[in-house]
Amino acid sequence: MIFDIVTLFPELIDVYTNNGIIKRAIENNLFNLNYVNLRDYSLSKHKKVDDYPYGGGPGMLLKPEPMFKALNSIKKHNSYIIYLSPKGNLFTQNKAHELSKKEHLILIAGHYEGIDQRIIDKYVDEEISMGDYVLTSGELPVLMIVDAVGRLLPGVLGSDESSVEESHSNNLLEYPQYTRPESYEGLDVPEILLSGHHKKIEEWRLFKAIEVTLQRRPDMIKNKEIVEEYNKLQKKYK
Ligand code: SAM
Repeated sequence: MIFDIVTLFPELIDVYTNNGIIKRAIENNLFNLNYVNLRDYSLSKHKKVDDYPYGGGPGMLLKPEPMFKALNSIKKHNSYIIYLSPKGNLFTQNKAHELSKKEHLILIAGHYEGIDQRIIDKYVDEEISMGDYVLTSGELPVLMIVDAVGRLLPGVLGSDESSVEESHSNNLLEYPQYTRPESYEGLDVPEILLSGHHKKIEEWRLFKAIEVTLQRRPDMIKNKEIVEEYNKLQKKYK
């Protein structure tokens, strides 16, 4: 997998990707990550990349010419081009899985009031939104995609950092977790987790995962068997 990012702020991308699991993955060649600075593709003497919107209105828009040039310099036959935008499809774990199957993702970070529509019409395969709110620029959304997709790629997470049982991985939120000490300031770890009985622990975790999902995100529960399972387990663990 190759991630190519088009940005006005490469230093923001550096800060995040020079740390932690993502840094280790890049160093181990588990995926490639490159970026281009949109300003390097400006045609003007002062490296201008934005201009006023036709028809009036507040703010500036990223101009088509530098972006066309930047995209032409990195686009390949297998590229999937995403523009991060509050108007896009909502980003989800399912979308992260879908994107992790692509060979080459080009991620465009917008700025100011956004980008000229002709860039979207000519190049963009999909617009993706991080949620129903507006950020000042697309660098954080780009990094969220790199992170969420990158960690699904083979080898990126160690066996002790598996993504299999996490929230959203099986249409349930994750069960509550505890670590040492067993008791702290009168707060005890649930006894069952100390029992060493793996089958019972697995069942209790499923019960807790359904419980928290029903409380917080009932919209995620798609089949009634899950609720039946919960009712059955409730008798045991409530
Ligand atoms: N005028 C735009 C609108 O109303 O849809 C918002 C532009 S925003 C101030 C600047 C840039 O931040 C956008 O081009 C986009 O790349 C990024 N951005 C802001 N909010 C976002 C969100 N919720 N999801 C993804 N990208 C976002």
